[in-house]
Amino acid sequence: MEPGQRRTRSSLAVEVGDGKYALIDAGHDLKAQLEHHGLTPRPLNAEGFRESRVEAVFLTHGHADHTVGLAEFCTGKSFGIPVYGPPDLLEFLFGPPGRPNYFGALGRLARDYVKPLELEAGVPVDVGGVKFMGFEAPHTQTLEDGSKYPSSTYVYKVSGGGSELVYAPDLGRLDPWFMELIEDVDVLLLDATFWWDDELRRVSNIPVTSKQLGHVPMEEALVALSDSGVGRVVFTHLNHTNPVLDPANPQRKAVEEAGMEIAFDGMRLRL
Ligand SMILES: [Zn+2]
Ligand SMILES: [Zn+2]
Repeated sequence: MEPGQRRTRSSLAVEVGDGKYALIDAGHDLKAQLEHHGLTPRPLNAEGFRESRVEAVFLTHGHADHTVGLAEFCTGKSFGIPVYGPPDLLEFLFGPPGRPNYFGALGRLARDYVKPLELEAGVPVDVGGVKFMGFEAPHTQTLEDGSKYPSSTYVYKVSGGGSELVYAPDLGRLDPWFMELIEDVDVLLLDATFWWDDELRRVSNIPVTSKQLGHVPMEEALVALSDSGVGRVVFTHLNHTNPVLDPANPQRKAVEEAGMEIAFDGMRLRL
């Protein structure tokens, strides 16, 4: 794959004022992403420690590409950074008090290296004057008992300074409630894992569809969003098989002709 077509795992840092940031998701590439954007802890202060620039982390769901980067916070000074997410996700990652799961007691110097905080759907959390609200969305697997594995999934609406953004990197369907949620938002960052529903069969002969994996195919999303009222549509969470990665492909041209954008590493969005 050409260097310009490569992508690190999708995640978002929202500036919440005064050089502080809230992250949405923390995947495998978090360390490199934080370093690249100068979001690592500040230089040593008078008390002898490095202050974090990350004020909070909001998690969408339990898949590894959205969560394993939390381990970045488990060494060195414990900042007790609030980590918000769907209640079943926090239980999956951290476990109940006294019975830690994988991330529950990972801190080498302090067990409370982060502070997991359950976030109910539709309830806003304010970080530095910016509001973050999670909405339950179709993506993860439903087990026989009706529970979701590894967790339920949120998409996030972020509001501040009169602007709104929706972050939906993993989304199985563009249901009516979602179309209502994104009506008139300034920016929508949307799941673009696959272009075709049968992309994995076409490219790798794997008999599983995009929809079965909980990702709306991009060719359908393009049509559904053509007159949605969204200011900017930016496609993210691209799988390496997605033909839009190659600027020479007709699918890329179709996105550009529709006035929509393909996210790239280091992309900055001003609201
Ligand atoms: Zn996922
Ligand atoms: Zn994902």
